[in-house]
Formats: sequence, C-alpha cells, structure tokens
Amino acid sequence: MKIQVDDSKCCLCQDTVMETNKHLFVDCEYATKVRDALLCWSKINLPARELNNILELIKKKHWKKFKKEVVAALWGAMVYHIWKARNWKQFKGVSLQYSDIVKEITREIVGRIDMYKDSKRAIRSRSFWQNLCT
Ligand SMILES: [Zn+2]
Repeated sequence: MKIQVDDSKCCLCQDTVMETNKHLFVDCEYATKVRDALLCWSKINLPARELNNILELIKKKHWKKFKKEVVAALWGAMVYHIWKARNWKQFKGVSLQYSDIVKEITREIVGRIDMYKDSKRAIRSRSFWQNLCT
C-alpha cells in the first residue's frame, strides 16, 4: 500500500486545498457531512464557523447548562473523530466512513448523558436529552 502525503490535498475529501484547521473541521465536505448529520440528530441550530467561535456561540445561547455541556461535548467529539479519520487515512491508508463516525459520536454522547441523567441539571434539560436518547 502506498500512502502519498501531499500537503496541498485534503485526504478526506480529495480537494486540492491547503489542509488548514478551517478546511479540515469547517469547510471540508467530509466534516460538513459529519456536522450536518450531528446537527440533524441533535436538532440544534448552530452555523458552521471556526472552532473557537462555536464555543463562544454556545456560551451565548439561551440554553440550559446541561444542553450547553452536551453540545460542547458533541463538538469536541466531532473534532476528535474528524482528526482521527484524517490520521487513519493519512498514516494507515484506512478510510473511515463519515456515517460510522457519526454513529460512534452519537453512541459516546448518549453514553455520557446516561451517566448524568439523574443529575439536577440533566433533569432540567430532560426534553433535550430524551430527544437524543430515544
Ligand atoms: Zn477536505
């Protein structure tokens, strides 16, 4: 197996672009598919922006604390898994399907919610997380 390392080509979408953080996590078609699927699953509405803006945006939302934490965790998981997919492709030549990544992330988030579902904060955001866990 021959792995070609080429900095001017994104290994996830094959576009000829500089592999910047902005491309990899925001503009890339692969990241867009993951993000759209997760936004659809969580029924939250956040515009695709640079990563540090997203955290600011979450902070400013009039959401309950638990929901903010879940959405921030969702974003963190997304960045982690896209980075992993990029590294697997780049260094192992293994292509991770975006749909498998989405499944993995939703499973992780549901697992986390399950651990905290009896907390007061979670009870206050029940409708939000019940929607994710059913
Ligand atoms: Zn790309």
